[in-house]
Amino acid sequence: MGRSSKDKRDIYYRLAKEEGWRARSAFKLLQLDEEFRITLYIFKLLKSHHAVDLCAAPGSWSQVLSRKLRGKGSSEEVKIVAVDLQAMAPLPGVTQIQGDITKISTAQEIIRHFEGQSADLVVCDGAPDVTGLHDVDEYIQAQLLLAALNITTHVLKPGGNFVAKIFRGKDVTLLYSQLKIFFTSVTCAKPRSSRNSSIEAFVVCQNYSPPEEYVPNMSNPLLDHSYDVDFNQLEGPNRIIVPFLACGDLSAFDSDRTYPLQLDSSKEYQYLPPTQPPIQPPYQQACHLRKNKLLANEDSPSVFLDGALSAMSL
Ligand code: SAM
Repeated sequence: MGRSSKDKRDIYYRLAKEEGWRARSAFKLLQLDEEFRITLYIFKLLKSHHAVDLCAAPGSWSQVLSRKLRGKGSSEEVKIVAVDLQAMAPLPGVTQIQGDITKISTAQEIIRHFEGQSADLVVCDGAPDVTGLHDVDEYIQAQLLLAALNITTHVLKPGGNFVAKIFRGKDVTLLYSQLKIFFTSVTCAKPRSSRNSSIEAFVVCQNYSPPEEYVPNMSNPLLDHSYDVDFNQLEGPNRIIVPFLACGDLSAFDSDRTYPLQLDSSKEYQYLPPTQPPIQPPYQQACHLRKNKLLANEDSPSVFLDGALSAMSL
């Protein structure tokens, strides 16, 4: 397969390179913003511009925030903090924290960057490394969303908004009800750039209003399976049904379609490399091992097996 074949199969991957975004996910936030006016809202109503991008690497959502917010306010007013476990190439006007969103120290560092003030907007496109075991992946994604909600309760100002990736799996009703405890409005949205074949969607949570006397606490994941309840059977007033919205202009490209390389007759197709290749990606070690023929095979005990065993014991 040629290097342009991904450009054919994934129109948003190709457009991201053409428009200078670090990842195709940029279009997801752009389309959510088009529908919900998230960045306009924080500028107009909250009058300040403190935004946090959780799980930010390689940084396309931070690019969107920077472009949208800096386009509106003066650059001194705009503060954007990006957090990720992985290192991220620098982005002008974005402060980076290489850290874990499940840690209180990360929340404290964010607040320090805002000089004691709270954030107006928190976004999170967090995804764990997928295992391919759907139930496990859904569960870990739910935990990551709850960790994002937890850290958000430490840093978001009342009235602020929270946007996060969610998997519409079997715990989704419980997740909605937990989000509804903290926000007056919760909507589930699916941007056109998110593939239909994926259970990925985004929750747009507006108007942060935590319960009175709620004390933010990092140590308690809210999703607690010890209650032993079938959460999707929550009934009566406990049943939370959130609106679902497909967003992105109907004329927008369809992420599930394959497009010809020549999109229109006026512009010749040209292959472009990715805008910003990841720095220190987690697969770097695997590439190194493969290149040096150190990967496991039947004759030699595996370096990877050792790694896998120690990972399993974590
Ligand atoms: N929104 C990003 C963009 O537009 O460039 C893409 C984010 S990528 C899909 C998911 C990211 O979540 C990964 O970079 C991963 O390192 C990060 N992540 C996963 N768990 C995390 C955690 N506990 N703390 C911080 N980052 C985490």
